Amino acid sequence: MTFEALGLNTSIIKALTDAGYTKPTPVQEQAVPAAIAGKDLLVSSQTGSGKTAAFMLPSLHRLSAIDPAVGGKTHNQEMQAARARGERPRFKPAQPKMLVLTPTRELALQVTTNTDKYSVNLRRLKAVSILGGMPYPKQMQLLAKNPEILVATPGRLIDHMESGKIDFSQLEILVLDEADRMLDMGFIDDIEKIVAATPASRQTMLFSATLDGVVGNMARRITKDPQIIQI
Ligand code: AMP
Repeated sequence: MTFEALGLNTSIIKALTDAGYTKPTPVQEQAVPAAIAGKDLLVSSQTGSGKTAAFMLPSLHRLSAIDPAVGGKTHNQEMQAARARGERPRFKPAQPKMLVLTPTRELALQVTTNTDKYSVNLRRLKAVSILGGMPYPKQMQLLAKNPEILVATPGRLIDHMESGKIDFSQLEILVLDEADRMLDMGFIDDIEKIVAATPASRQTMLFSATLDGVVGNMARRITKDPQIIQI
């Protein structure tokens, strides 16, 4: 199996070749075509299986294909333009197209680093991490760029959401990475609140070591007719 056969566009395939990836891993073989087709996914797979690329590659493919408007003026540029016109710039919340929730800062940073690698030839798509422990002014600067992709731990994201800094009404893709660990860490209420703020029409992908018990219940509630992948 090749990356071409999975249906990914040439800009993404070039980035993968440059990163030294020669062929998809088993979870990528199953997840990528289904996610490109817009299906919800429930995936049980371990760290090291290539799961980050399994959700990020089809998402980058879809966001670069279905949304020619992405990469317009950033909020910073709009605010500068307003100042140049002598107007007082109005604050606008970030309106991400994709959100990845992860249990830890380390995993969020890893997902963001990999995303930068995969999207290197898609200059219009930017990913930023929103993490507990990072200074607020720095995060405000990142959000003002109106990035298409947010990678976040749930607690800090809720703070920004509740203070009106992020608006999820334009969200197209929601990923819960290591969902079982997020639930073990007590993030269930935060996750429910975040999911409730996103459009029902979104595509949802959930990755977890197990799909049983509490995580299975949540997975069924937040996905529609999901494809189940067990590696
Ligand atoms: P993950 O399971 O997402 O944490 O990925 C584990 C490691 O495998 C990461 O360092 C990835 O960069 C790498 N990786 C993911 N997919 C591939 C692939 N198809 N070929 C080679 N390396 C990969």
